[in-house]
Amino acid sequence: MTRFIFITGGVVSSLGKGIASAALGALLQARGYKVRLRKLDPYINVDPGTMSPYQHGEVYVTDDGAETDLDLGHYERFTGVAARQSDNVTTGRIYSNVISRERRGEYLGATVQVIPHITDAIKQFVTSDLTNEDFVLCEIGGTVGDIEGLPFIEAIRQLGNELGRERVLFVHLTLLPYIPAAGEIKTKPTQHSVKELLNVGVQADIIVCRSDRPIPEDARRKLALFCNVSPERVIEALDVSSIYEVPIRYHEAGFDTEVLKRFAMDRGHEADVDLSAWHNVVKRVQAPEGEVSIAVVGKYTNLLDAYKSLSEALGHGGIANNVRVNLNWIESEIFESDSETLLRLEGVNGILVPGGFGERGAEGKVEAVRFARERHVPFFGICFGMQMAVIEAARNLAGIAGAGSTEFGPCAEPLVGLLTEWKRGNVIEQRTGRDDLGGTMRLGAYPCRLKAGSRAAQIYSNQQDISERHRHRYEVNIAYRQRLEDAGMVFSGMSPDGELPEIVELTDHPWFIGVQFHPELKSKPFDPHPLFASFIQAAIERSRLD
Ligand code: GLN
Repeated sequence: MTRFIFITGGVVSSLGKGIASAALGALLQARGYKVRLRKLDPYINVDPGTMSPYQHGEVYVTDDGAETDLDLGHYERFTGVAARQSDNVTTGRIYSNVISRERRGEYLGATVQVIPHITDAIKQFVTSDLTNEDFVLCEIGGTVGDIEGLPFIEAIRQLGNELGRERVLFVHLTLLPYIPAAGEIKTKPTQHSVKELLNVGVQADIIVCRSDRPIPEDARRKLALFCNVSPERVIEALDVSSIYEVPIRYHEAGFDTEVLKRFAMDRGHEADVDLSAWHNVVKRVQAPEGEVSIAVVGKYTNLLDAYKSLSEALGHGGIANNVRVNLNWIESEIFESDSETLLRLEGVNGILVPGGFGERGAEGKVEAVRFARERHVPFFGICFGMQMAVIEAARNLAGIAGAGSTEFGPCAEPLVGLLTEWKRGNVIEQRTGRDDLGGTMRLGAYPCRLKAGSRAAQIYSNQQDISERHRHRYEVNIAYRQRLEDAGMVFSGMSPDGELPEIVELTDHPWFIGVQFHPELKSKPFDPHPLFASFIQAAIERSRLD
């Protein structure tokens, strides 16, 4: 029997609902249950694929090619369960499905309304595409009281009735602010938030309270009384230094125990819950044996959520090598006006150029690649970063002066060009320059064949075929392969049909790799991605030279 846990948030946003959901998922897993995590996003975009990273942070891509909310990345990193298209839905997608059904006449002449048609579609989404999960944890985006979130709250209220209280549980995450002048933690905003939820028919079963200090017993009792829960179901969520500590702290605070008790599933085996994997990760994060500094030369460096999986994956590379990875975020544009600024790269042990879109800052990235190549600093180019590395090699190693990308307009030497046709298994995907922007990139998992003996093959333990996730519209132009190879660039990973370059590397360099895919999306704290582990290892070696 599948049970559903709905997680809402109140008082303010950014309380870490995604991490709370992911951590609870990990704890239920540690108790031997099969879990699935989902996110309901109340915004009108059909998916976050067309949103600026400044609006929404990173777009997390699943194996099955969905462009989803970055919280799905947390879910996957914490539980290891691969996220799918059916794990994230938005108001936009729900409405677009309902409206297409209406146009097909499938509502048989009925007036189509928010209740029941939109709420039915939400319930249908929450309860479908499951395979014997014990628990489905479903996070509702936004904050209780938002107008656009109402249909989602209404849908989960209905599910509470339809499936019965033995199959549905509501968790509400709030903030307990500390007011220095009063010298007190304040419970009123949480009381209001729980009441706001009750106004729309949902009684929270468990209240998780973010706080920067321990919750005094009297505050806990007051919260319990006013929010209509028992004091043990007020879970303290203190600030922690690493997100990977959250499952441990939640377990200590009794979160998973209370969930199981509420479902009458508590077998009293608490002492057997094995969180050693989390303890190991936290130990490595908190007490590393050394440190390295990596420059990330990008474009959305003012908002670190734009590179969430990337910074996590770099951290995992540190975990694998027992070092702290200090990230130095640099706006690539600064390298365009003044070559002196490149000196900022001088002390770093590795340079990474991440994924990106559009012309702004591209030349600065090419400069950063050049610096890394010429100075023998370990270099990792991801997606756009690989494309810039190829353009740099074309210009400065192969002597192709006009090398560029058609992403920035017509170009004499299109080293990187629009991808108009490719194979997904046996199906041929086709695109033109006039397609919709949403959902039309090369998205999701694609196989890549590694060249035996290459550095890439070594890093992937000499496997022949690997699978990685993609999200791009442009591609390194195979027509230039020979000239690049003659100049020293090795094409060490290709699509199985040999048409699409997936990995390039330079051999007369300590570590220089560009990948067309996004390896950061599959890295986990307890299973660091080999490319990140290897890159950080090269950075450690570089740091020993300095
Ligand atoms: N803008 C490039 C493309 O569409 C790279 C995309 C990316 O880095 N994710 O091909």
